[in-house]
Amino acid sequence: TTFADLGLDPKVLSAIIDAGYTQPTPIQEGAIPPALEGRDVLGIAQTGTGKTASFVLPMITLLGRGRARARMPRSLVLAPTRELAAQVAENFDTYAKNTKLTKALLIGGVSFKEQDALIDKGVDVLIATPGRLLDHFERGKLLLTGVQIMVVDEADRMLDMGFIPDIERIFQLTPFTRQTLFFSATMAPEIERVTNTFLSAPAKVEV
Ligand code: AMP
Repeated sequence: TTFADLGLDPKVLSAIIDAGYTQPTPIQEGAIPPALEGRDVLGIAQTGTGKTASFVLPMITLLGRGRARARMPRSLVLAPTRELAAQVAENFDTYAKNTKLTKALLIGGVSFKEQDALIDKGVDVLIATPGRLLDHFERGKLLLTGVQIMVVDEADRMLDMGFIPDIERIFQLTPFTRQTLFFSATMAPEIERVTNTFLSAPAKVEV
């Protein structure tokens, strides 16, 4: 399989070529096709397997097919730490460089001011840690009713850090009809319970 076989937007393909990738990794080969069909995906994969691209590439492709909705984020990516969220944001910038899609990185340790300005202006994608996202929500700054694609990255670390209740709350703030791409290195019982509750007939991809 080549990247060209996977059904990605040509703008995404050219960004991947510029990044020097020649072949999709197994998690990308497994997760991208069902994600592009609009299915929920449950990916069991470790860091270093190329899992970030396995959700960012289809997300950009799907957002490119839809229409921008003024001021409403259409996609939400949750990562357990500031560093991981920042990495996802960097990847997004690389893969979305030929598109007009915009993002905001919502993480702690920086003032709300800049993040507020981005939210007010309107972005397509929010990339956030759970605590900071809920802070924005509680300040009345954020509506998640336009979210069509939600990604949970590194759910096993979310569990270790005590974020599962936050994740469940955030799921409930997004539309029931959203598409969910959910990634974890392991499937602890608590994570299995969350996926059973919030994912709908997911394509399970294990690498
Ligand atoms: P991740 O598992 O998402 O942290 O990705 C690990 C590293 O692999 C990152 O530095 C990516 O830029 C790189 N990468 C992801 N997909 C590919 C690919 N298909 N070919 C070559 N490198 C890749």
